[in-house]
Amino acid sequence: MVYIAGVGRSGSTLLERLIADRKGFSGLGEVIHLNDRGIRDNQLCGCGTPFADCEFWADVGKVAFGGWENVDGHSQHLLRRSVDRNRELVRLIFPIGSFRDRIDTYSSYIGSVYAACKTVSGAGALIDSSKHPSYAYLLRRVPNVDLSVVHIVRDPRGVAYSWAKKMRRPEVTNGDAMMPRYGVARIAMRWSIWNLLTASLRLFGVRVLQVRYEQLVADPAGQVDRIVEFVGVTSTIKDAERQYDSSQPQGRVHSVAGNPMRFDSRGLTISADEEWREALPLRKRLVVSVVTWPTAVMLRMIERRSRRDHSRGMASQ
Ligand SMILES: [Zn+2]
Repeated sequence: MVYIAGVGRSGSTLLERLIADRKGFSGLGEVIHLNDRGIRDNQLCGCGTPFADCEFWADVGKVAFGGWENVDGHSQHLLRRSVDRNRELVRLIFPIGSFRDRIDTYSSYIGSVYAACKTVSGAGALIDSSKHPSYAYLLRRVPNVDLSVVHIVRDPRGVAYSWAKKMRRPEVTNGDAMMPRYGVARIAMRWSIWNLLTASLRLFGVRVLQVRYEQLVADPAGQVDRIVEFVGVTSTIKDAERQYDSSQPQGRVHSVAGNPMRFDSRGLTISADEEWREALPLRKRLVVSVVTWPTAVMLRMIERRSRRDHSRGMASQ
């Protein structure tokens, strides 16, 4: 399992599409929203059809539960929300009593979903781009999930600017819905906390690879090579047998939820989104830089150390 973690608007959807394009990988989108946006609300899959009509997800439901009609999406959504919270992190790491029971119940349910995704896709590794750090802590407990976390980090000023912009949600077919918007101070706080919690997964024995958005857009192939090497997966089936992925050209995936760019079927044209450099006012830029400074320093130290370890590993080979 490749789990893409990081703050929203850091390029996680782009990254998922790039990895899913490689042999042996299958993208699932933000599985965190499977229960509410998929099963309950029947929103659009990344392939462009409503969840209930998507053949991939229909097969997954059949293999796991004999059909999604046997699953109460709303109850599963509430169950996940009751344990999967950043503020519940201590209990997620050291669960006891009824909290532990709820984690175990949800883990066993979502474990069946992932197992079915693997069977139906035939992929060597699944990609879940849910992003939330708390969910990565939950995934550690899901049976049969061998977790590799790809931690995508983008310049916090670019992230803050993107959250302040207006953007429509194309997957909502009944009426208009906008992506949420937040102020820069709030996003700067989120950037710090989420990145800190994601980097801290290392303390609990989880493998984490940090990838910079700016490096990803400058050299997509090189960065995805790094990730493939890190995950160490080879496909269990031949490309010709990839029933679903081969019908999804240019990295479109059966993503159950995610950023609007997952619907873009024109193929991936990758360019750095640097609009914030012109459009983000100096005062806001300063707020973001001050709030995110301690975490940014820590992330740079981790990056330097992993680069050093990597070159040492190459030298000793
Ligand atoms: Zn689909």
